[in-house]
Amino acid sequence: MVELLNFDEYLLSRSIPVRSYDAHITGLESLTHDIRRLEIVTAEPLKFWAGQYADITVPGTGVTRSFSMANPPSRKSRLEFIIKMYPNGAFSSLLNDTLRPLQFRI
Ligand SMILES: Cc1cc2nc3c(=O)[nH]c(=O)nc-3n(C[C@H](O)[C@H](O)[C@H](O)COP(=O)(O)OP(=O)(O)OC[C@H]3O[C@@H](n4cnc5c(N)ncnc54)[C@H](O)[C@@H]3O)c2cc1C
Repeated sequence: MVELLNFDEYLLSRSIPVRSYDAHITGLESLTHDIRRLEIVTAEPLKFWAGQYADITVPGTGVTRSFSMANPPSRKSRLEFIIKMYPNGAFSSLLNDTLRPLQFRI
């Protein structure tokens, strides 16, 4: 038998298992000279609490960075991130010259 000595029942009841999701970029815009708004849409809805973050991996680059969701949890598939640009930043540089929103043909 395992006995948990220190745990918060309320916190445990709200915990969300870590999962991986595929996503594509639907929006990327400059808010200021060094702040970008990145919008992605996940293949499946994702449950999260306000203040939580996602580890975003850019396929083929080996770059993974953490970013806090900037949209409310009520929006479960279209996620928004506010990202500061750093000179030579491995992730943020990709926002300048490599990553683009996926274009849909209508
Ligand atoms: C939980 C969590 C949530 C976060 N949420 C956000 C968020 O919402 N928005 C946000 O903008 N960021 C957020 N961050 C930070 C984010 O994850 C990245 O760390 C940040 O964006 C920098 O990543 P980068 O790849 O662009 O830069 P990096 O490549 O990591 O470099 C950062 C800076 O360090 C310099 N540098 C890198 N290596 C060296 C070196 N060897 N010597 C000297 N200088 C060096 C680079 O030139 C650059 O200026 C969060 C981090 C955590 C842990």
